[in-house]
Amino acid sequence: MAQEIKVPDIGDFDAVEIIEVLVAEGDTVEKEQALITLESDKATLEVPAPVAGKITELKVAEGDSVSEGDVIAMVEAAEAEEESEAEADKPDPKADDEKDNDKAKSEDKPDKKADEKRGADRPAANTDDSTVEPKASTPASDDHDYDCDVLVLGSGPGGYTAAFRAADMGLNVTLVERHSVLGGVCLNVGCIPSKALLHSAKVIEDAANMASHGVTFGKPEIDLAKLLDYKQSVIDQLTGGLKSMASKRQVNVVTGTGTFSDDHTLALEGNDDTDQITFNKAIICVGSEPVMLPGWPEDERIWTSAEALSPDELPESLLVVGGGIIGCEIANVYAAHGTDVDVVEMTDALIPGADKDLIKPLTKRMKARCGNIWVNTKVTGLEAGDKLTASFEGKDAPESKQYDRVLVAVGRKPNGAKIGADAAGVEVNERGFIPVDKQCRTNVEHIFAIGDVSGEPQLAHRATHQGKVAAECCAGEKAAFDAKVIPSVVYTDPEVAWTGVTENQAKAEGIEYTKSAFPWAANGRAIGLDATDGNTKLIFGTDGRIIGAGAVGPGAGDLIAETCLAIEMGADAHDIGLTIHPHPTLAETVGMAAEAEAGTLTDLYIPKKK
Ligand code: FAD
Repeated sequence: MAQEIKVPDIGDFDAVEIIEVLVAEGDTVEKEQALITLESDKATLEVPAPVAGKITELKVAEGDSVSEGDVIAMVEAAEAEEESEAEADKPDPKADDEKDNDKAKSEDKPDKKADEKRGADRPAANTDDSTVEPKASTPASDDHDYDCDVLVLGSGPGGYTAAFRAADMGLNVTLVERHSVLGGVCLNVGCIPSKALLHSAKVIEDAANMASHGVTFGKPEIDLAKLLDYKQSVIDQLTGGLKSMASKRQVNVVTGTGTFSDDHTLALEGNDDTDQITFNKAIICVGSEPVMLPGWPEDERIWTSAEALSPDELPESLLVVGGGIIGCEIANVYAAHGTDVDVVEMTDALIPGADKDLIKPLTKRMKARCGNIWVNTKVTGLEAGDKLTASFEGKDAPESKQYDRVLVAVGRKPNGAKIGADAAGVEVNERGFIPVDKQCRTNVEHIFAIGDVSGEPQLAHRATHQGKVAAECCAGEKAAFDAKVIPSVVYTDPEVAWTGVTENQAKAEGIEYTKSAFPWAANGRAIGLDATDGNTKLIFGTDGRIIGAGAVGPGAGDLIAETCLAIEMGADAHDIGLTIHPHPTLAETVGMAAEAEAGTLTDLYIPKKK
């Protein structure tokens, strides 16, 4: 049956002129395809088709004036649309929760053209392959006398965020952590200590680079104990803050290692006062641990990232196995502080997953500051003697070489299989991840999982966002994790950052896109900072909206935040280019890359296409 297509909410405009009718009667249109173009004295905008189907009747013509609610055309929806609408009408309380939430969100936000391709690129909360089938469990009950409303297992960024949000919403929360200090990997042995040491590395590099500009400093003298004290003071400030905030919120913090004994009980080891805690709902956020390579000797000179961030001494030589984010960050720390560092990476480039053009300036600088960067190379064995002898298989690497320390940075394994999840009926997949749905629920309705244990990417900002979703769901809110993008940042010098669709991904998945870039060599601030090898690029979908972005250069991680918002808001090149960016800043490169796409850029000369 034909349905009416009406002019949607077009803001504070009334009687806006139709300057173009883009379809004719009998045309078949895609969902979101533009039907008419309206022009007011302030803006031009297109009205898209709300469904795919056939235009049976046009009710307007060029030159007509229309207002919100006026009927533009009649459309006979395509079968698939009708079916999916009928499907959506089926009662499903859980799906309804999510739909309501989506609706609430979409009512708050401007209409985003959810182009199918972009939709497909959305990272779901559960980025694992497994799907979650809710399973009957002992129902969570508010009448039962449990020790707490919500038990949060693990106090990393996912855990403390979930605990604090749940407490702020009036729930009685117990936070269980096996270590005496809160904050998990991120605060204690991950994001925070690595960035404190990278700061020192950057100062050393910047000071050395100033020599060619007329300012020479002496060779740095490194007092390792003092440097590590500085790193620890940064950690202490943050973890101390967590402790105080937990106490102010009356979150009951319990130290001990928890394992489930059933779906409402956690057994506790290592705590003198309590050996079990009962809960109405639980949020699992037990994180991940570094992967070690099988068959390697047990030797304290073979490090994970945790040991590398608390060294007993600065080694003369270090082999970093794995050229991903963690490997490159730590390689940069040691190289700047005087260690001879080699990096070996199995794939064909550093930072697998990032676009090659973004990685190029980093690779060039790492080649200059490290001994060797071997890509397409495997470490085939490691022997412990006076030194650690690594053997290699790869075109450029030697057969073997000796090192004082070896860092293994080949990935992190989720801790899902270590918490007795089966006793609670919670599904754990073969990789150790706990699959979850958009509300971060596991297959057991009242048990949630968030952060590194719930899927990839294993990043702190994903964990914290999920933490809020899970806490809000525990409090009965209709929350869902529906982020379009989760940005990635490599905090090296230069920094590398990207978000949304990468070019690698677009090519692999056949996503049509256009790209615009702004080289930092044309940005005044970058020239002054001696960062002319930087670059900012934006990726746009076929509907003109931004779907991805990347940057390389100092502060790239901060720059990328603007593009994350732009993607979430469905901005196009004009929205970004017409936003006034402060001058002179590196942020201008985002605005100018957008202007390049919009054809309004004046800061570069781009010959017109013939
Ligand atoms: P975690 O932080 O791993 O916390 C889990 C907590 O659960 C731990 O405190 C653990 O002790 C506790 N626990 C586990 N099992 C039990 C149990 N049975 N009982 C009680 N407690 C338990 N991410 C970024 O976003 N940006 C970065 O710059 C960044 N840099 C990193 C640098 C390094 C060197 C490393 C290793 C990681 C880095 N990460 C970074 C990743 C980030 O640290 C993780 O994604 C993040 O910590 C995950 O948070 P989480 O809450 O899931 O778990």
